[in-house]
Amino acid sequence: MKFGTEEQKERYLPRLAKGALSAFALTEHDVGSDPANMSTTAKLSDDGLHWILNGEKLWTTNGPRAELIVVMARTPAPEGSNRKPISAFIVETEWAGVEVTHECSFMGLKGLSNGILRFTNVKIPRENLLWDEGKGLKLALITLNTGRLAMPAFCAAGAKGALEMCRDWANSRVQWGRSIGKHDAIAQMLGKMTANAFAMDSLVDLTARMSDSGNFDIRLEAAIAKLWTSETGWDTANDALQIRGGRGYENHGSLLARGDIPYPVERHLRDARINMIFEGSSEIMRLFIAREAVDSHLAIAGDLVNPKASLGAKLRALVRAGFHYVWWYPTRFLGWSVWPRYMKFGGLGSHLRFVERASRRLARATFHAMVRFGPKLEKRQAVLGRIVDIGSDLLVMTAVIIRARELGETTEKKGADALADLFCRMARRRITARFPALFNNDDSTTYGVARRFLDDDFLWLEEGIVSAEAYRHQAEAAILAGSTLETEPLEPVRTT
Ligand SMILES: Cc1cc2nc3c(=O)[nH]c(=O)nc-3n(C[C@H](O)[C@H](O)[C@H](O)COP(=O)(O)OP(=O)(O)OC[C@H]3O[C@@H](n4cnc5c(N)ncnc54)[C@H](O)[C@@H]3O)c2cc1C
Repeated sequence: MKFGTEEQKERYLPRLAKGALSAFALTEHDVGSDPANMSTTAKLSDDGLHWILNGEKLWTTNGPRAELIVVMARTPAPEGSNRKPISAFIVETEWAGVEVTHECSFMGLKGLSNGILRFTNVKIPRENLLWDEGKGLKLALITLNTGRLAMPAFCAAGAKGALEMCRDWANSRVQWGRSIGKHDAIAQMLGKMTANAFAMDSLVDLTARMSDSGNFDIRLEAAIAKLWTSETGWDTANDALQIRGGRGYENHGSLLARGDIPYPVERHLRDARINMIFEGSSEIMRLFIAREAVDSHLAIAGDLVNPKASLGAKLRALVRAGFHYVWWYPTRFLGWSVWPRYMKFGGLGSHLRFVERASRRLARATFHAMVRFGPKLEKRQAVLGRIVDIGSDLLVMTAVIIRARELGETTEKKGADALADLFCRMARRRITARFPALFNNDDSTTYGVARRFLDDDFLWLEEGIVSAEAYRHQAEAAILAGSTLETEPLEPVRTT
């Protein structure tokens, strides 16, 4: 829809409208979050009429059943460059040379069709190049941005499902003389889950409306929505499982077979886990969001704090930074964020005033981080992560307050104010704790231990277990025997 030519749309959209499945193939064995090592290639045939596609794609959702696949592949470097760009192609699975070599199965998403696709000298008509040569990665990013608005909605729906199951169970399950929902430890989880579910819904509502209006570049908000709802959705599913106790861990079929209520909580948990990995893992989302926040500073003053920059570059940066920050920095301190501002938000106004103060504080802290770490800030992922998490909570607080105010004007949805208030209180505590941790933390010590761990300094800690090395041998033996079935359980192997 977005990138196809009129001719491509005429050829393929009717098929899709009639139910043809489509897929999107970017990932390869060596290409996960980073597309740098992409090895699938497309070269023009000698007569120039076709692109010849070769390579293998991993984990293509819908791949085994799709009729049409958008495949990312490297195309030849343009003249004067040795960088082979990535381009996107529409590939029909019926064409010679397209095969599904393996159907993957996962911890969750058991209904998902997903597989490895191999392309051997597939002849793609030249006109099936999508958008322009070399624009594949940009296309993938734009496509992912749209996906990032859908996933928060799935996560919010999952959280609502968890609420429904827990409301019934926490009321009806009686232990130690009272329903478990009235024991404080469980009530704390229920309160948090309810406020978080409301927050997820509010964030979906806000980002969807921003997108629909067409007036905003919502890349950042969509990324935050994906990151925040996938992580909060996971916490919610985890709490729901805990509240269900042993029945949370037992699967739906087993519960049903013995006549117990078959709430599929363990399935929810398994299904929710992947949301933090695909369509941009949490770590990559934090980097993406942080880069947007820090890049504007680095563009203006980066050379000033870069020890490798020349004197000339430093002087130019000094002038640029002088002009910019003489206005910018003081305004990150000034602002009217005390009562009676936001009075129309009633009791939630104080939270909105906090959002405003904390936003300015975050802007200052981001600037301080750049001054302190210079270009190395890019590598301080834990610091950047805290900056992003503060910003995310501030956005969600705003979404929650807006929604509560709107719902407050209707009579049938009562208590939105209470949910918004609880969410904002929890978020404020997180934010207040994260600010001092920006520069006072154990990041370097933790990094040091991780490096020593990678250098095998702590091998002694792994003694006496069934070694993962043994699993590797088992897989190799299975492949040699032409089978991937599990063999006999392994005997413990001494690991030193
Ligand atoms: C069920 C399922 C469906 C999928 N569907 C599709 C599909 O339809 N099409 C498709 O193309 N792909 C698909 N994928 C692939 C998915 O998008 C990738 O799993 C995802 O991009 C992450 O890549 P990876 O698993 O190779 O992890 P890697 O990139 O190898 O990362 C491993 C870990 O390292 C972290 N990491 C990586 N780089 C950094 C960094 N710079 N800084 C900090 N941490 C980092 C990651 O966050 C992750 O925690 C699917 C995967 C699954 C499991």
